[in-house]
Amino acid sequence: MTGFRIGAGLLGLTAMAFAAAPAPATAQPTQPAQVDEARLEAAAGGGDPGQWMSVGRTYDEQRFSPLDQIDTETVSDLGLAWYADVETQRGQEATPLFIDGVLYVSTAWSHVYAFDGKTGEQLWHYDPEVPGEVGGHGCCDVVNRGVAAWNGKIYVGVYDARLVALDAATGEEVWSVNTVAEQDSKWPYTITGAPRVVNGKVVIGNGGAEFGVRGFVTAFDAETGDVVWRFYTVPDNPANGFENAALEMAAETWNGEWWTLGGGGTVWDAIIHDPELNLVYLGVGNGSPWNAEFRSPGGGDNLFLSSIVAVDADTGEYVWHYQETPGETWDYTATQPMMLADLEIGGETRRVIMQAPKNGFFYVLDAATGELISGTPYTAQSWTTGEIDESGRPVFVEGAFFGRTGEPFIVAPSAQGAHAWHPWSYSPETGLVYLPLVETAAVMGPAEEYNPVVGRANTGTGGGAPDDIWETQPGAADLPRGGARLLAWDPVAREEIWRTDIKGRVGSGALATAGGLVFSGSPELDGWLAALDAETGQELWRQDTEAGVVAAPMSYELGGVQYVAQLVGYGVPGYGNSNGSRLLVYTLGGTQTLPPTPPAPELVLNPPEQFAEADVIADGQALFTDNCAMCHESSFGNRGLFPDLRYSVRLNSQEAFDAVVLAGALEPNGMIAFGDRLQPADTAAIRAYLVDRAHQQMAANAARQ
Ligand code: CA
Repeated sequence: MTGFRIGAGLLGLTAMAFAAAPAPATAQPTQPAQVDEARLEAAAGGGDPGQWMSVGRTYDEQRFSPLDQIDTETVSDLGLAWYADVETQRGQEATPLFIDGVLYVSTAWSHVYAFDGKTGEQLWHYDPEVPGEVGGHGCCDVVNRGVAAWNGKIYVGVYDARLVALDAATGEEVWSVNTVAEQDSKWPYTITGAPRVVNGKVVIGNGGAEFGVRGFVTAFDAETGDVVWRFYTVPDNPANGFENAALEMAAETWNGEWWTLGGGGTVWDAIIHDPELNLVYLGVGNGSPWNAEFRSPGGGDNLFLSSIVAVDADTGEYVWHYQETPGETWDYTATQPMMLADLEIGGETRRVIMQAPKNGFFYVLDAATGELISGTPYTAQSWTTGEIDESGRPVFVEGAFFGRTGEPFIVAPSAQGAHAWHPWSYSPETGLVYLPLVETAAVMGPAEEYNPVVGRANTGTGGGAPDDIWETQPGAADLPRGGARLLAWDPVAREEIWRTDIKGRVGSGALATAGGLVFSGSPELDGWLAALDAETGQELWRQDTEAGVVAAPMSYELGGVQYVAQLVGYGVPGYGNSNGSRLLVYTLGGTQTLPPTPPAPELVLNPPEQFAEADVIADGQALFTDNCAMCHESSFGNRGLFPDLRYSVRLNSQEAFDAVVLAGALEPNGMIAFGDRLQPADTAAIRAYLVDRAHQQMAANAARQ
């Protein structure tokens, strides 16, 4: 704990108020982070406009700020009010909370900070001390997307699958639980998503479907950490019985021995709540392994993979589901952000749930029943015809099932997804959804050999593709691969209104405000934050952030002044990549400046002479694909998160290479040791393969000059 300080002057009173009845929404808060059901419901109705008390601001998760001091006219005067460095120079994906004067924000490795919202003074800092060796349990960096607040406590889901309640005044642990039940402890779960508090219960899922896990979501009593309910997203081995009738139904849609790898279906980000319908909606992830033919031979829809599932908020009992991608085999998750809204559709007001997941369809569902109101492609697709049939199923292009055909296929959107976790935003004033889009297409094919091992990257994909596949697959040459955009989408008219180029390989979160603005940034290393006209997309303001911006901005009001806060930082510092990970807070007339950017480490190709024969290099490629590619190979969609090993200085020494790969010299950074699964001959082959790749790149560079 560093910088400990209770904001007593600002926040008032004592912990004795803890036991008092929940205050009405209009009452003065009696302790830090005094959030209750009345306050959250009042915020949804337009109360407390200056607060941001849950990760999506309200239960609807529209991420719309009703503040308008910063508007299309005044935004030109927006400047930095203060900034705070955070401890870890890794990817930063959290949306801060703002409650009664204090910003609460989580950062990489599941740290949590509290800052004075006006001055930026650090009030406390919590480090859950995640062991470095669990870094390898996740696909996509040791990130965290935010915290939750309830009755004087701040909740964080920790990377090693703990859920921790902190005293909002001090940052000290009140309770800590392992979210994984004893019978599931064999699986490598992680948590990167924000917990949600639903009427006194903290609801959290997990990640790990790339590595072999069985997905589930748990509701914990917010005061005690006791389990209230748990909902599994895929059925267990039928020999073990079923937890409920919904899973018995789901088991009918699986073949083979899917349970040996857990099946996947992790709920690693999107969880929303409708208090009137008393439902919790779960966004369920991809299958484990990706290749459905290995997971469930002979087909099957594989419920509840890639589905939105509604459960009873009190009991966790299944209510309805809608499966977006039956038989999912392209890493198409339904974990992308969801939001609730009241939309005028066909002359009536419909309470809807919206999601624009990786698979490229924009879905509008009835929030009470799950009825599909519309499903509209918001980007190019190759896996369907772009249609959804009357039963609500996408009309597949048969060749897309590469596991079934045994042939590689160019999939658009790629496994990276047309929209990943990056928060989106809806403005009830423009009626538009602001959606971070990435246009991608990539070859996917079946692995020639596949031996599932829990804890390793389990995709069951790979293999080669003919050089001319982009010409021979119908339509492939025309698929857009244009990078990242911010899209303004009309969910009623089902059409794009405008798009801007946000420059980069991944999305960047969005915030719409009542000032007629949309804030969003650039994920590039020399990133920036911009304010756009919400109606037209015209850029009205931009400022450099000295780091990639992937997290969502948020806005709050304190002392009659509106602020915009943005957490910045993207990827793992390494070759050609540096990060000024910080919390940046802007206000009108702000004059603070950032310190000069440290130079990014230069990208230099300096491999030794090749020391191995072709067969060893080929072995090295296979070993690299199985063990390293998930993080270190761009065609696996690593999005530049992790170092490109062609540039590693350690290629020059087997000893230096093995110190990391076998012995774990970089384990504190999350680069796990592979000494339990690779032999020295294996790492020599991997190094030979990387040396080969480095020489190929040098030759390509020379040919270009
Ligand atoms: Ca995935």
